[in-house]
Amino acid sequence: MSELLINELKNKYACQIKENEPLKAYTSFKIGGCAKYVVFPQEKDSLAGIVRELKEQGVKYTVIGNGSNLLVPDDGYDGVAIITTGIKNISCEGEILHAGCGASLIKLSVSALENSLTGLEFAYGIPGSVGGAVYMNAGAYVSEISEILHKCVCYDTLADEMLTLDNKACDFSYRNSIFEQNESRYVILEASFLLKRGNKDDIRAMMDDFMSRRREKQPLEYPSAGSAFKRAPGYFTAKLIDDAGLKGYSIGGAQVSEKHAGFIINTGSASASDVLSLMEHIKTTVKERFGVDIEGEIRILE
Ligand SMILES: Cc1cc2nc3c(=O)[nH]c(=O)nc-3n(C[C@H](O)[C@H](O)[C@H](O)COP(=O)(O)OP(=O)(O)OC[C@H]3O[C@@H](n4cnc5c(N)ncnc54)[C@H](O)[C@@H]3O)c2cc1C
Repeated sequence: MSELLINELKNKYACQIKENEPLKAYTSFKIGGCAKYVVFPQEKDSLAGIVRELKEQGVKYTVIGNGSNLLVPDDGYDGVAIITTGIKNISCEGEILHAGCGASLIKLSVSALENSLTGLEFAYGIPGSVGGAVYMNAGAYVSEISEILHKCVCYDTLADEMLTLDNKACDFSYRNSIFEQNESRYVILEASFLLKRGNKDDIRAMMDDFMSRRREKQPLEYPSAGSAFKRAPGYFTAKLIDDAGLKGYSIGGAQVSEKHAGFIINTGSASASDVLSLMEHIKTTVKERFGVDIEGEIRILE
């Protein structure tokens, strides 16, 4: 990848670019090696423009939001990591909240509260960005993004055009969407959410309740990427892992949390290969014990 191209991007899109930057600083797992370059666009048109140019030049790239569902390999990423968290605008129009792809989901739920809008309480506590949450249809406490997404503006890298997708076109299902199905074809630029008028005290009470349940049940004191596995149809995956006797099991610095068996935590010095080995061990053990196939939820950067 040429220095020239990188300098061109820097000047054209007025974005910060870092070279040989440790990606672990941008993930909730705090694991992984360096990216050749990390680019920080500050607005959605720059994000689309940067992606278009990198794609045209055949340069390997990836889009990262808050890095809270991501495992970066120990040998890093030999390409350009584009981090969206600078695109963080949030605005309210009646019962609709608009947000840039890099806006924090937690801030979005607080904004819903401030505007007396209900429907986003479940997202209070999910440490992702709007783009990452739409990408994987994030959810909690029997609600998910698909229930409130109004529209989503994205850049289609294959057709080289901007698209506005409505809820149906996003083809949401459990932790899945058109974006996840097509991996890196679409870059989510912004999204809007249709909420309902509600009572501020009730909204706040529900948010506080969800947050205290998280604090009580999840190992928030350790770096992690949330639930390591998806729900297997008909089963609670964390219970399967627990029943297989794996709570507390560790490989290197990666451990099945004692507090919540669905979480793999970094006890301080975990490598990506520790996490991957542990995930494999969990899958094999659960399959042997209960005959159930479980699927990873964490995106592994390649
Ligand atoms: C303590 C903890 C608790 C969690 N609790 C929950 C929970 O209750 N429910 C839940 O669903 N998840 C949970 N998660 C996981 C995570 O927060 C969510 O999956 C979140 O939606 C990921 O968003 P992100 O911005 O961090 O995505 P990233 O990790 O940055 O990226 C994840 C994927 O999304 C893609 N992506 C990100 N932004 C864009 C974009 N703009 N355009 C296209 N693709 C994009 C990336 O390429 C990548 O493939 C938890 C994580 C932690 C650490």
